[in-house]
Amino acid sequence: MNVSDPKPRRLHIVTHGCQMNVYDSARMADVLRPLGYATVDTPEGADMVIMNTCHIRERAADKVFSALGRLRDLKEAGGGGMMIAVTGCVAQAEGEVILKRAPYVDLVVGPQAYHRLPELIAQAHRTRGSVIDTDFPAEQKFDFLPDAAAPQGVIANLTIQEGCDKFCSFCVVPYTRGAEASRPAGSVIAEARRMVALGAREIVLLGQNVNAYHGEGPDGRHWGLARLLEALAEIPGVRRLRYTTSHPADMSDELIAAHGENPALMPFLHLPVQSGSDRMLAAMNRRHKADDFRRIVGRLRDLRPDMAFTSDFIVGHPGETEADFAATMALVRETGFALAYSFKYSPRPGTPAAALPQLDEAVKDARLYELQAELRRQQDAFNAATVGLTTPVLFTGAGRYPGQVAGRSLYAQPVVVESDTDLTGEVRTVTITHANPNSLLGSLQKEKIAA
Ligand code: SF4
Repeated sequence: MNVSDPKPRRLHIVTHGCQMNVYDSARMADVLRPLGYATVDTPEGADMVIMNTCHIRERAADKVFSALGRLRDLKEAGGGGMMIAVTGCVAQAEGEVILKRAPYVDLVVGPQAYHRLPELIAQAHRTRGSVIDTDFPAEQKFDFLPDAAAPQGVIANLTIQEGCDKFCSFCVVPYTRGAEASRPAGSVIAEARRMVALGAREIVLLGQNVNAYHGEGPDGRHWGLARLLEALAEIPGVRRLRYTTSHPADMSDELIAAHGENPALMPFLHLPVQSGSDRMLAAMNRRHKADDFRRIVGRLRDLRPDMAFTSDFIVGHPGETEADFAATMALVRETGFALAYSFKYSPRPGTPAAALPQLDEAVKDARLYELQAELRRQQDAFNAATVGLTTPVLFTGAGRYPGQVAGRSLYAQPVVVESDTDLTGEVRTVTITHANPNSLLGSLQKEKIAA
């Protein structure tokens, strides 16, 4: 195959993991579009399948290999013409191992090399062999990726920062995504403008450690996240801004103040604390204490009493005692979360905590069960408390059933109302009438909130 051949080609992308992978998958589709690749929903008959992987979950690599086995069958059934690429964090972490265990894979590409996909594909065709690129090059991939071409809808993700220098004991990100790097503010602002032109009204800024953002500003100075959010809020058409994922140690005074000053910034923050025990936070190399988290939450609630929080927790990290776990439960009860993600610690090869003596699985299971029961209770209580409230909703499109439209609350909860009018992109006031476990029902009020 000649890569300059304009013949249309079918591209299927399987995306695992976080929103940053969702964003990267869209960028890879943009990179490959000029080569004639158009995305399709299934791998059957595809000319190229990209498996964009995540290394966070337990046995991530095993799951990738079993999915690759199914793709090999499809590739063989189609005469071998299908190109298979593995990208994302498993590609970065496993590298050569993927080609040894799955020699039918054509490309293994780390997250820093997506802009080089066309040249890597050409190389694989030229050599009729497999190609691997998992370098952390000095150049930033952001500078080489094309502009976002496909509209993401009313809510658009925008990656502004990648990598992490924190080296938490349990996390593979510093090894798979490399050192912290921030995009220049001018390029973020330009991309946000294009997103708005394509229909976006809410922009979610993404980064592994997004509040460590320190991109070069158009004025030649380094901009922190608060300054960037201020500039983004000034773009006509931007109604809402969010950012994720944050680290408590990087919640600067300016960023905290922005929550009281920037009207586009939603009163909803994902701030992973991981544990309520200082002993465990030190063992996890988290660089903050439980009281630092409490202080940040308190200051934000002082500035915005309607502020709500989500978080991440790890239970059963090596060395965690009953007293440590009790401290986590105390912090959870005291804070009150709108939503939280909790995980049982599982060792990631190559990370420091993986080499330590591990807790009994039954102990971890029992603690996770107790934590999740409390978090579920808090989530239900948070959703139930919205019933009767009249609140702004950003509408994103049609609901699941005819005569329904769907949108998002200030807290990103899905909201469904009855309406025959297309409200896509509008912010309207809605009175919440019912709370389901994962969505809210409401009735539309007459008042329209001006753009
Ligand atoms: S701050 Fe987040 S991304 Fe960085 S090492 Fe810790 S858990 Fe991983």
